[in-house]
Amino acid sequence: MAADERAMLLWTPELLSYDFGPGHPMSPLRLRLTMELVSAFGLLDRLDVVAPEPVDDATLRLVHEQEYIDHVRAEDAGDPPSRWGLGGPDNPVFAHMHEASARIVGGTVAATRAVWRGEKVRAVNPAGGMHHAMARSASGFCVYNDVAVGIAAALAEGAERVLYVDVDAHHGDGVERAFWDDPRVLTISVHQTGQSVFPGTGYAQDAGGPRARGFAVNVALPPRTADAAWLRTIEAIVEPLAQEWRPQLVVSQHGADAHGRDPITDLDISVDAQRAAALMVCDLAERFAEGRWVATGGGGYDLVSTVPRAWTHLVAVVAGAPIDPGSPTPPAWLEYVGDLLGRDGPATMTEGRPATFRPWEEGYDPEDPVDRAILATRRSVFPEHGLDPLVR
Ligand SMILES: [Zn+2]
Repeated sequence: MAADERAMLLWTPELLSYDFGPGHPMSPLRLRLTMELVSAFGLLDRLDVVAPEPVDDATLRLVHEQEYIDHVRAEDAGDPPSRWGLGGPDNPVFAHMHEASARIVGGTVAATRAVWRGEKVRAVNPAGGMHHAMARSASGFCVYNDVAVGIAAALAEGAERVLYVDVDAHHGDGVERAFWDDPRVLTISVHQTGQSVFPGTGYAQDAGGPRARGFAVNVALPPRTADAAWLRTIEAIVEPLAQEWRPQLVVSQHGADAHGRDPITDLDISVDAQRAAALMVCDLAERFAEGRWVATGGGGYDLVSTVPRAWTHLVAVVAGAPIDPGSPTPPAWLEYVGDLLGRDGPATMTEGRPATFRPWEEGYDPEDPVDRAILATRRSVFPEHGLDPLVR
């Protein structure tokens, strides 16, 4: 059966009920403003919009333990509260927490199944990307790991090579952990070094378990890494591995918190580079995975200026209709922002950055801290895939 021409967007306003409450950085406002902007650009007409339902416990158990699921459902932080990661400032318990969290998983599972089965060529779940959640605990604002469950659902249907690319500012530790010793999933996380930011993990030498050496890939970038170095990193790591391994499905997490304005991280990435990263992943999927691509959101705490633009660009790329960075933001959206927040939204879809970079094949500088990080990762994992760390 031919895949539907239109890509899939997983969305329902019910996803806004994933809400840790006033003052918490992960405000549902970011999704609300994103979807208003997506709509104002007319993208909803170009996408097959599907409202996800919460998944059942059996699906969650592909990754999570029933005992943990029971605590989430009971809205019970446990005793002591830290044991399940529930309660406390990062992951406070909220009403209908299970349903809201399981609905996010429902979106990513529907996306991965549709793309894996060939019903859709691409899909995007902006509410997804809860990459920190562990089998038996919440972590870093993430209750259930929609990405890991989505990938596991594809594996359960016979997938043998799933490439996961995570460009959130934080290490994609929960997804990595879920497939640490599983050579069917190659996880790549490009993030700010754990020396200076949560969760403190994800170093070059962390390369996977004994049966899957080289299948966990981590680049730990120094604080204040900017566009050109960030894009160069993604290209220098992801491109050769994808070319060599030929994934059947690409799943990517586009947390927008690598942005220079993000209040909880220290990278210096622009909306223009985030758009470029989405295009790079799309292109990789086209060349090496027959186009099969599932994209999710993730972190992102600069709620008005960054996240809506970064993810609207992402949704547009998935829709096959990338937005010109120079486009003005639609007046209807600016009005919405003004009415809701009493402030001005960004006037254009660009920050005027070129989003260009010098590719690795043109050489590297051992004195440069980003090049050193790239090289450490390539040395750690490339030989496991028969690739030379020093050359393409
Ligand atoms: Zn993050």
